[in-house]
Amino acid sequence: MSQLHSYLQDQWVTGTGAGRALVDATTGDTVATASTEGLDLKMAMEHGRNVGGPVLRAMTFAERGAVLKRMSEVIHENREALIVASRQGGTTRGDAKFDIDGASATLSYYAYLSRSLGDRTFLLDGKAENVLRSARFVAQHIFVPRHGVAVHINAFNFPAWGMAEKAAVSLLAGVPVVTKPGTATCLLTVKVVECWVNAVILPEGALQLVTGSIGDLLDHVGPQDCVAFTGGSKTAKVVRGHHAVVANNCRVNIEADSLNASILGPDVEVGSDTWWMFINQLSTDLTQKCGQKCTAVRRIFVPESLADAVVEALIEKLNDVVIGNPGDKGTNIGPVSSPSQQRSVVAGIASLSAAADLVWQAENVPEGGCFVRPSLFRSDKGAHTEYVHEHEVFGPVATILTWAGNASEVVSMVAQGGGGLVCSVYSDKRKWSSEVILGLAPWHGRIHWGSKKVHDQSPGPGTVLPNLVHGGPGKAGGGEELGGVRGLQFYWQRTAIQGDCGLLDKILD
Ligand code: NAP
Repeated sequence: MSQLHSYLQDQWVTGTGAGRALVDATTGDTVATASTEGLDLKMAMEHGRNVGGPVLRAMTFAERGAVLKRMSEVIHENREALIVASRQGGTTRGDAKFDIDGASATLSYYAYLSRSLGDRTFLLDGKAENVLRSARFVAQHIFVPRHGVAVHINAFNFPAWGMAEKAAVSLLAGVPVVTKPGTATCLLTVKVVECWVNAVILPEGALQLVTGSIGDLLDHVGPQDCVAFTGGSKTAKVVRGHHAVVANNCRVNIEADSLNASILGPDVEVGSDTWWMFINQLSTDLTQKCGQKCTAVRRIFVPESLADAVVEALIEKLNDVVIGNPGDKGTNIGPVSSPSQQRSVVAGIASLSAAADLVWQAENVPEGGCFVRPSLFRSDKGAHTEYVHEHEVFGPVATILTWAGNASEVVSMVAQGGGGLVCSVYSDKRKWSSEVILGLAPWHGRIHWGSKKVHDQSPGPGTVLPNLVHGGPGKAGGGEELGGVRGLQFYWQRTAIQGDCGLLDKILD
């Protein structure tokens, strides 16, 4: 059985001890182990700061962008091998492509963005402004890369995309990366980094990979470092409260759980284009990646008068779904990614069964491995279905919640989720939509408005786009990533420089 390696200080190294087991999610067999025991993570942080940082900061945005472009191309060149590697985590071919192509596309987008930032090594933030009466004494805000390391801690569900989207932003900002994927599926992450290393495209010290448990990595963060975390809210609390993070006021970005909502407007007619947009996008969200997407819908808000029709249409679609070996052609849903996720989803389904009515559950689900039974629930108790508004079941599971149809009631019910990544609203009525969308905006990082005008043009709410911000307030972690240039600011220091306008022009030009 292979022991997966980490890539530290520009070398492949292997931890000692038994390590953590990686299971083939389809069979349940252990296929590899990963350990960080005995690895010098302090030296890795110093290598990033002392080697990777200076190398990246000396490069222009265009040069950093050229690296990202090659990283994107190399993923694409190795696509088939990466799809095979991702099978360990239980992904179907379609789901593997979603992750791997998402990684490549995000790197490519940030490579493209670098062209607009030009041949500079830092950026001006707006224009110089007079701060006093004197025309000579001015101030200019600038953005410079911090002289630290970006520690990226990722969840298990997107082993390629999750790593690449954070790395793209950080490297373009000029800050080296130490990335730590979720252990359960890190086989694919290791393969991606192997492809980059073999292609000799990474600047020295720019990217290091920690494979296995977090070890003492966070003990070594300092005041110029930052931590970008994606995962569950319980772990997020530990990261935010870590003694070195707190002592150094280390900048932290958290992407955590989300009870994403989808809302059907009372104006939508059964069978209309907007109706099918709603039903089809729900069905994608419930089945894609076996429901293990941070953006997947968990709560479906439907006016009482349309609830039976929604249940019927969804069940018809879900009955066509094939659950089985993700390697088999025609399989739509594979297993969840690990035995611990399986336990967690099975327990979540049991708790939901006590809180709401089960209206559909998949049959013919394979025995063994990490398979779960995709399930659809319904509750007519609205705001009083507390479990649904408080707990994310991270799998192919959602609950339909009925309500009377007025805008303010649905806004307050959605807000009961405590803040989410994305919410979708389907309606062709401007006034109703405006009240719901503006009412929900403070609670979400992104709102998807489905209507007849865009019914055939949208990727759906579940796809994270690099030019739009990703993150949400409250329960969703309070973070913000991506969003084009906006995402780079997390890795930069904004500094106001005040002084003589002529001299400032000379050093900042
Ligand atoms: P998790 O158990 O919280 O783990 C997330 C990451 O944190 C993993 O790399 C994990 O490493 C690491 N970790 C564990 N203990 C740690 C500690 N004490 N200090 C620092 N890091 C530690 O979450 P998960 O099961 O991988 O992912 C599922 C959750 O992620 C779901 O709740 C989902 O909603 C959320 N998620 C959110 C987003 C978003 O963008 N908002 C995206 C994807 C997933 P090990 O794997 O080695 O334990």
